[in-house]
Amino acid sequence: MTDNMIAFAGNPNAGKTTLFNTITGSRQHVGNYPGITVERKEGSVQYKDNKLNIIDLPGCYSLTAYTQEELVARQVLVDERPSLVVNVVDATKLERHLYLTVQFLELGIPVILALNMMDDVRSKGITIDIPALSQALDCPAISTVARSGEGKDQLLDQIIDTSSARAGKWKPLKLSYGPDIDPALDKMEQIIADNAFLTDRYPARWVAIKYLEGDENLHEQGEQSAETSQQLIKIADDLQVHCQKTLNSFPEAIIADYRYGFIHSLLRKGVITMPSVESRLDITDNLDKVLTHKVLGPSLMMFLLYAMFQVTFALGDYPMQLLEAIFGFMADSATAIIPEGHLQSLIVSGIIDGVGGVLSFVPLIMIMFVMIAFLEDSGYMARVAYMMDKVFRIFGLHGSSVMPFIISGGIAGGCAVPGVMAARTLRSPREKLATILTAPFMPCGAKIPVFLLLIGAFFADHRPLIMFSITLTAWVMALIVAKLLRSTLIRGESTPFVMELPPYRWPTVQGVMIHTWERTWEYIKKAGTVILAISILLWVAMTFPSQTADQVAVFDSQREVLEQQLSQSTDPDRNQTVTAQLEQLGQQQSMEALKNSTAGRMGVMLEPISQLAGFNWRTNIALIGGVAAKEVIVSTLGTAYSIGDSDAGESTSLAMRIAKDPTWSKSAAISAILFVLLYAPCFVTIVVMARESSWKWACFALIFNTTIAFALATLVYQIGIRIA
Ligand code: GDP
Ligand code: MG
Repeated sequence: MTDNMIAFAGNPNAGKTTLFNTITGSRQHVGNYPGITVERKEGSVQYKDNKLNIIDLPGCYSLTAYTQEELVARQVLVDERPSLVVNVVDATKLERHLYLTVQFLELGIPVILALNMMDDVRSKGITIDIPALSQALDCPAISTVARSGEGKDQLLDQIIDTSSARAGKWKPLKLSYGPDIDPALDKMEQIIADNAFLTDRYPARWVAIKYLEGDENLHEQGEQSAETSQQLIKIADDLQVHCQKTLNSFPEAIIADYRYGFIHSLLRKGVITMPSVESRLDITDNLDKVLTHKVLGPSLMMFLLYAMFQVTFALGDYPMQLLEAIFGFMADSATAIIPEGHLQSLIVSGIIDGVGGVLSFVPLIMIMFVMIAFLEDSGYMARVAYMMDKVFRIFGLHGSSVMPFIISGGIAGGCAVPGVMAARTLRSPREKLATILTAPFMPCGAKIPVFLLLIGAFFADHRPLIMFSITLTAWVMALIVAKLLRSTLIRGESTPFVMELPPYRWPTVQGVMIHTWERTWEYIKKAGTVILAISILLWVAMTFPSQTADQVAVFDSQREVLEQQLSQSTDPDRNQTVTAQLEQLGQQQSMEALKNSTAGRMGVMLEPISQLAGFNWRTNIALIGGVAAKEVIVSTLGTAYSIGDSDAGESTSLAMRIAKDPTWSKSAAISAILFVLLYAPCFVTIVVMARESSWKWACFALIFNTTIAFALATLVYQIGIRIA
């Protein structure tokens, strides 16, 4: 019995993952490559006495390190030395997909070509002469239909044959790149071989080609033998100047031309026969006439995205409420079982409420990801990106940034946690980062109650108008800030929209389910670890230092007096008043305790500054708590304002209480709305941001967003109180 590592590689949308799922079934493991957010998927299969460990490499178009995915794919091949690569290609786009194949062959690693989507090939009336192709490329080729499992056994047989025949030995293919490049390549190859420069990892000629292509990652690796590296760079630079002068082109482009030329001529030699006339109307083309139509396309897209978002929240509400009820029940039980004190408070407020608050989002996230996976697998998502690309590009974003924005609350009421996670569909790290950093500006569902509260208190007559302006402000700010970041801190070329539009397909149930579960599971894992830790930390900040014995004694004695009155009096009216006073006393005590805690002291301490934007210390505590979860803002304000109210008998709404408070005003309300809209993301979002980018950027968002929010809030408030 042998233990074999096999890598699945190919262009995005070739059907790699589908094939991988078909072959490995449920025996899969998903993780991340260390330090970056590219997913690492591994699985295994037992086949005829052989155990095959399969790794599904990220999709890539080339092996030059243009993107993280390409770099990762290459590193796995070189460092982990799988015994062979199964190169999955979309056989309906053979010419384009073989470009990557040629690069595997040039690297020399044993390759098996999986000609996937053969069902589409047949239905389009194309014929492919597989033996001829296999012979021309000098590598085995198997036809497959990943979705139905056709060709699976032949592929597995071939894997076993090839891995024993080649025994992992690399055999680089040598292509000619024409009279200008070849001499330079030969010279470089010689230098590389003589100095054993990186030859423990790569074939000599391949290193030379990468130097000509200006591969930065390889330059970095070469720095250890700086002298050789310099020599190679010099030759590459000279050649570049030469090519520029003689051919008005770059070595990189010429190399690509020759590769395509090689593929083209090979396919022409009777390998592919296209149908003489377009035998069948192409469904994809017809669909695209409508779905990406200039006017119809964007309108349909808006409708679809809006509907999807409505469905997510409509369907998600029930299971979410159920989970909340379950956690509520757990909290109640814990309260009943554990004696009152810090332990009870830690378990109930810190752990159950904290982690429960996070886990109750799971249904929402699952439903949303089912729909995203469906749109992605069907090929529609690529069209959305394609349509939005022109506009978003102006702001340094990418067409695929739309989805994260909308999910985060771009149409009001989303959530930045899944929104930030949805930014995974972005392939370029810079645009992904800009999207992640700006998506939390959107008016998420937890901010809405704050807006409704303040609008109710001060602008009750203009609800729709103000809500609309808030949403508009969020988009405008997100785009402006994205532009700002992309022209300063995350400056850099935007990635060209190379993504080709894949044909429309019905997604498979298995594919959608696996995609959904992978993402959901990652979220659940987080709740159990990082979020648990942070919940506890926040609980500590809002609990300690606790009140001194003296402070507690004051409340206790007051409570005793009231309780005594209650036990002695029989007048029901009187009793009601006393009960209300008791309740008020309790709230006052918790408010005092909160004011005394670390978070409370911060609120008081910040008051001199926060007053610039019109926030008093109570608002400050609410806003600090809002970093834990935006929902906390309203509840904390609620506690804060239920106290100083003398006529506790009449229940007045929080909005009315705030409206009556002289430290509030219309200007303060607008300022607070702006601040809540834009300031630090809540901590779950921050954790997710850190996971999707890095802690450095997550902390940046915390500080940067709060600064922008405060500056804007202050500006508006200061102008407001002067003109009001
Ligand atoms: P990857 O990007 O290479 O991992 O591609 P996926 O496995 O995600 O597949 C992309 C799309 O092609 C999905 O919608 C699959 O259902 C579909 N697909 C995969 N293999 C086949 C196939 O053999 N025939 C057809 N018609 N569709 C396929
Ligand atoms: Mg895939």
